[in-house]
Amino acid sequence: MKTPIVEIDGDEMTRIIWADIKEILLKPYIELNTLYFDLGLQNRDKTDDRVTIEAAEAIKKYGVGVKCATITPNAQRVTEYNLKKMWPSPNGTIRAILDGTVFRAPIMVKGIEPLVSNWKKPIVIARHAYGDIYKNSELKVNKGSKAVLTVTDGSGCVVEKEIFNFEKSDGVICGMHNTDKSIASFARSCFNYALGVKQDLWFSTKDTISKIYDHRFKDIFNEIFENEYKAEYEKAGITYFYTLIDDAVARVIRSDGGFVWACKNYDGDVMSDMLATAFGSLAMMTSVLVSPDGKYEYEAAHGTVTRHYYKYLKGEPTSTNSVATIFAWSGALRKRGELDDNAELVAFADKLEQATLKTIESGIMTGDLALIFNGKSTKVGTREFLEAVASNL
Ligand code: NAP
Ligand code: MG
Repeated sequence: MKTPIVEIDGDEMTRIIWADIKEILLKPYIELNTLYFDLGLQNRDKTDDRVTIEAAEAIKKYGVGVKCATITPNAQRVTEYNLKKMWPSPNGTIRAILDGTVFRAPIMVKGIEPLVSNWKKPIVIARHAYGDIYKNSELKVNKGSKAVLTVTDGSGCVVEKEIFNFEKSDGVICGMHNTDKSIASFARSCFNYALGVKQDLWFSTKDTISKIYDHRFKDIFNEIFENEYKAEYEKAGITYFYTLIDDAVARVIRSDGGFVWACKNYDGDVMSDMLATAFGSLAMMTSVLVSPDGKYEYEAAHGTVTRHYYKYLKGEPTSTNSVATIFAWSGALRKRGELDDNAELVAFADKLEQATLKTIESGIMTGDLALIFNGKSTKVGTREFLEAVASNL
């Protein structure tokens, strides 16, 4: 490998799996070249969380990173790890620095069928992770109140618009916003990602009802597509398709999959949970952060699997699913290979994924999958699964 991959280590059970994947599935087969950042909670505390910022800056510089799941501390973790303070979510910090969008992609395997029987290919969902109700101002209001939207522009000019006159009842109001800059970054991340995987891009809002707010999203997407991506999409044989969110939901359910679905913040929050459940298991979901200028960070969508880690610490056997973490590595290796014209590395990434799927299809899997597998299965331990993948590899 010419250029290093930015390697971001993490916490608990996924940290154990991380080291095992490198030892069993990567180092024996490839000259692994990584720039290592330890985002384990102890080291984030020790470095006053500087290590998180350095890791994000390294992804900006080198273009491809792979991240292990990390603990986002709450009050209980502050006590457990004797932390200096309640450090923010590493994913939040990295996302803010890269200005990126998260794409969640299910890993499909024969024997674990989606609950929606016509889905034959993965549906990747992208959530705009800025603004709307997630950064709102809301109030309870009393009967007799009148709510007015007031905007003062840079020159002191005031524009007012009535929201509602609460003559007859108490009620609630909410003010929210988004920025053209954030919407445009989201749009470019989506157009880049879909182009990279050569799949159609769908985008949906409620622009028929929200004729200014949601319509702005539609217009910005359309403008960027026409000016920057149309020709490339035609060349790649893929399309950009806008439709109303209600129509999108109906089409998604009736489709056979194989496209990228971009959603506004709230729609993405809800629909990503719906898709994860319908595709079978959170442990079979990968996640990629893509910045508008084409930097990539791959990870598993699940957390650090704390309950399994406590068992591991007690010396009890564990059967934790490593598939999403393996696919985070294969995703990063493939992208690095593509960027460096390293066909061997791309081929290795493909083989690693095939070996993993083949292992499950042959009936060898961790406990979580054995419960939902359609066929005869043998439940194996965390490490045994990786060794079985290695023998297929
Ligand atoms: P979690 O680690 O995803 O685990 C929740 C439960 O889902 C597990 O207890 C387990 O169920 C099942 N599960 C998840 N991944 C699995 C796997 N790979 N193999 C088998 N079973 C799996 O979520 P959490 O317990 O809510 O959070 C734990 C920690 O992870 C928290 O400190 C949180 O901050 C962090 N977190 C990090 C990220 C990230 O870095 N991207 C994302 C989410 C959460 P059973 O116990 O029933 O077996
Ligand atoms: Mg959600």
